[in-house]
Amino acid sequence: MFEEFKFKGEVSEHKKLRAVFPEGLFQVMKVQGLGTKRTAILFKTLKIDSLEKLANAAHSGDIAKLRGFGDKVQENILANLEFVEKSSQRNLLVKALSYAGDVRRYLSPHPSIQNLETAGSLRRWKETIGDIDFLCTSQNPEKAISHFLTFPDVEKVLAHGPTKASVLLKNGPQCDFRVVEPGQFGAAMVYFTGSKEHNVRLRELALRKGLTLNEYGLFKLTDKNKEKPVAAKTEEDVYRYLGLPWIPPELREDRGEIEMGLKNKLPRLIEEADILGDVHNHTTLSDGKNTAEEMIRAAENLKWDWYFCGDHSPSLAMTHGLAPAALWKKRAHLEDLQSKFKKIKIFLGSEVDILPNGNLDYENAVLEKIDCVVASIHSRFKQTEGEMTARICRAIENPHVDILGHITGRLMNTRPGYNVDFEAILQKAKETQTAIEINGQPDRLELSDTHVKRAVELGVPIVLSTDAHSISHFENMVYALHVARRGWATAKDILNTRSTTEILEWLQS
Ligand SMILES: [Zn+2]
Ligand SMILES: [Zn+2]
Repeated sequence: MFEEFKFKGEVSEHKKLRAVFPEGLFQVMKVQGLGTKRTAILFKTLKIDSLEKLANAAHSGDIAKLRGFGDKVQENILANLEFVEKSSQRNLLVKALSYAGDVRRYLSPHPSIQNLETAGSLRRWKETIGDIDFLCTSQNPEKAISHFLTFPDVEKVLAHGPTKASVLLKNGPQCDFRVVEPGQFGAAMVYFTGSKEHNVRLRELALRKGLTLNEYGLFKLTDKNKEKPVAAKTEEDVYRYLGLPWIPPELREDRGEIEMGLKNKLPRLIEEADILGDVHNHTTLSDGKNTAEEMIRAAENLKWDWYFCGDHSPSLAMTHGLAPAALWKKRAHLEDLQSKFKKIKIFLGSEVDILPNGNLDYENAVLEKIDCVVASIHSRFKQTEGEMTARICRAIENPHVDILGHITGRLMNTRPGYNVDFEAILQKAKETQTAIEINGQPDRLELSDTHVKRAVELGVPIVLSTDAHSISHFENMVYALHVARRGWATAKDILNTRSTTEILEWLQS
């Protein structure tokens, strides 16, 4: 179950357990080095059921005295507490999307609600989300607001007026709901989608043109009472009047989108329909939950053209990786399966551990026979930045390594990534033409957007991956896709858009 918790941030049994265990226990469990066993001991012996009590006990030295804990564990707790406290204030994108989905399903059928849209960081697909923002238009704003306030998962109403309301969702984030005039919807969407930095730039641009921009519209400065907006109804109208094309929300971060927009040189971002396959995933042969056949069937149902069916290499005992003999047996099995699947091409993939010295977990003679090799670090996270960078560079210098997996090993809200010199690794990737992965697991999501943008600038090939450990994880592709979009990637920057022939050519070159 905790495997599931790690991937989804939410499990079916979670709600049942919440009733039995204090909510704070789940936060305690997230502190790196604690886990379920130690959390249970702390709860039983020291009655620790919150981060606050954990901090107090660690500071007073009580934890070090417990059997099986000691000074080292206590020091570790103190070091990691700070990270967890800081990061637990924001929700992972996947969690916020799930809350927003519940709210949307509740609100959208209501007759008084039209044009319901999410705004804010959620619409921009940021990796973590503060509040959830909803906008709509309505013939009857008060009815719309009172319907929102009766949403069953409202924990507490924070504020409400005739056209807006803020609530706290049960065990979840704050959710703000606004009803705006149909004629001002576009201006409101621009304003509430943000980012703050993007909007500052838009207002500067407006001023230079003798205009002023707010949530109600774009007005001439001479229109003192702001009575008649020159643009407000749609986002396109507002951007066009400022001399810009419509800017995709993922780009609204003031990272050059205004300058490029003014020159009409914004990239045409990669889209979901461009994606033709996955290179990184796992089956029951290692630590996955579905068989190769089940995974391939699900991949075919997604209308993918090709699929590299992967598993772990053996160095890490807990992932039950495949020894070479098992790899060749799997290849034969995949060849058998191919006769059952007419619409998708199946290949042998593998996620191969990068050992602490930068060697790979398989001999070259083995690597050479695997159709696509993703190399990742799963051990010895505490090496220095210099050691880690050298370790990764050495691994990707191996000509049989096609892709570098999750570059920092971070698990958001749980553990920071190991330290690496991104620029050095990206340069090495460019030199060796190794692709860099955007891992779509909701708590990994790395490369992060700014590094994707740098990789695109350098011409480093990028691959999106699901790292699926079950068929339901194929949805991770969507998260990876939006990181790519936030990094300004077009279809040509991403290997998943290549046809079967093209991807094989790339892998062989
Ligand atoms: Zn795994
Ligand atoms: Zn993996």
